[in-house]
Amino acid sequence: MNAIIFGAPGSGKGTYASRLKSKLGVDVIAMGDIFRENLKEGTPLGKKVKGYVEKGLLVPDDIVIDVLKQHLNKVPKGKGFILDGYPRTIEQAETFEGIAKIDVILLQMVPDWIIIERLSSRRICNNCGAVYNLRFLKPKVDGICDKCGGSLYQRSDDTPEVIKRRLQVYQEQTSPLLQHYKEKKVPFIVSSIKGLDTPPETVVETMIKELKKLNLA
Ligand code: ADP
Ligand code: ZN
Repeated sequence: MNAIIFGAPGSGKGTYASRLKSKLGVDVIAMGDIFRENLKEGTPLGKKVKGYVEKGLLVPDDIVIDVLKQHLNKVPKGKGFILDGYPRTIEQAETFEGIAKIDVILLQMVPDWIIIERLSSRRICNNCGAVYNLRFLKPKVDGICDKCGGSLYQRSDDTPEVIKRRLQVYQEQTSPLLQHYKEKKVPFIVSSIKGLDTPPETVVETMIKELKKLNLA
């Protein structure tokens, strides 16, 4: 199965993708994680993307496409993958069409008020990238990752001003892609989240049921 997990910032893409990874044995290519890793390590790529990521703007397509290709090459032949955070522009989508086939779009529909609540209390493990939320998905010990013991930090782009910019960028540049994939007749699995307390397990179980109906899980 090759999937794109699609949705606004804070719609839960990363959380669901990492759970699908362990349940279905697929690889996940998460663009934002790759950029944050490079920022942390201060690599040449990290230096190139820093200004964009910190302001909540899209990294230029040529850089993103290069990074994607490098990471796709590492996916073993025959293994499925989920793209999280790619594509975000029509150009990125069109480039991908020459590289691999997409079987399904996993679309997360989450109202803005939930997104803002979630993003402002989100914390990330600085070691393994696991995502927590101080209000709805708490670590067992304050400030410490349940999975690896790493310490938790707040993303520099999870500030009210940058959150607003990211949501705007999503509306303007990324959401038109949905129409693009509808026209291409790629099947959609839509998860509609209506409350703050829907556990990720429930969402993921429903997704897997739907994937089975499409013979993709
Ligand atoms: P979000 O929580 O906003 O969905 P991500 O972790 O996926 O964020 O991405 C963080 C930042 O990395 C984005 O705001 C953007 O600056 C950059 N980025 C990630 N993926 C892409 C992409 N496909 N094209 C351009 N920029 C990207
Ligand atoms: Zn961790």
